[in-house]
Amino acid sequence: MTLKERYKRFKAWQLEPFDWSYDENERHHCVNCGYDFAGKFCPHCSQKAGLKKVSWKSVLQSTAEVWGMGNRSLLYSLWQLIWRPGYFISDYINGKRQVSFPPVKMLVLMGVISVIMDHLFGINEFKVVEGDTSWVAQFFAWIKSSPGWGGLFLAGFFMIPTWCLFRYAPRNTKHTLPQGFFITVFMAILALIVECLIDLFGYYFYIMIPLCYFYVYRQLFGYDYWGNFWRVVITLGSGFLLAALALTIAELLTTTPKSYADEFIAMRDLTLYSVVPILVGMFISKKTFDFREKRKQTVFQYLKMKFQAIRQRKKQNNHEE
Ligand SMILES: [Zn+2]
Repeated sequence: MTLKERYKRFKAWQLEPFDWSYDENERHHCVNCGYDFAGKFCPHCSQKAGLKKVSWKSVLQSTAEVWGMGNRSLLYSLWQLIWRPGYFISDYINGKRQVSFPPVKMLVLMGVISVIMDHLFGINEFKVVEGDTSWVAQFFAWIKSSPGWGGLFLAGFFMIPTWCLFRYAPRNTKHTLPQGFFITVFMAILALIVECLIDLFGYYFYIMIPLCYFYVYRQLFGYDYWGNFWRVVITLGSGFLLAALALTIAELLTTTPKSYADEFIAMRDLTLYSVVPILVGMFISKKTFDFREKRKQTVFQYLKMKFQAIRQRKKQNNHEE
């Protein structure tokens, strides 16, 4: 197989990794509940079609299941999340839930794996100073001890910018906040995978976190290269500023600063620099969206006119005969 053919097959797998087709005429008799049906699973009790008495093959299969090798397994879901992340997330938030291991469970399990990796290979990043009981220090200690929930919390700052900037995207147009929540969960899982790579190979793998956002959002929302690029840049930039804002507010609430004026100026600037780019980006997105819709409509009208002209001509020809 040539490289080009391999790539084509990979691309096809990215778009549709599962084969749901079945022969309507091929009937099965369920060994479990006695129901007659067509398809791959019994609609009555959900046992797989064509299962016979246990054999050596079932020994292998049930052993493989322990290690998570099935369609909905943790490993296969992670595999898809690495190689077709945007399409995978898109499938999930559009209701194809049978394609994935439950995402929040996946996040928590990855958090546990991440803690283990950290203990085995980790470079100690945030050394909590002994006796430092400040709110911020405790917060970072919490993130380090439960990276699953911590990662979700941090990725959560990108949820609102994403919702605003990618509202008018070509794919997954006007995604809802619950859909945004699951996008955030999957992004947090990816960040934890990168975290494991950082433990193994070093700090410079942090660059992979922004790269993940570019790669995933491109597949998920379907903007072209540059359209995707500047929107992700604003999403990440504003997300960081919003996180800084939250930290400032939290600090203000838990400690007594020397001067409130400085704190308020910082808060005002952070709000301005995070909210304004989002609003401008949203405005541009809305404009291009309207333009796209209009063009779609004019093309449609043009085709309709052509079609009517052809019909008219046919009618006239019939009359002449
Ligand atoms: Zn059955």
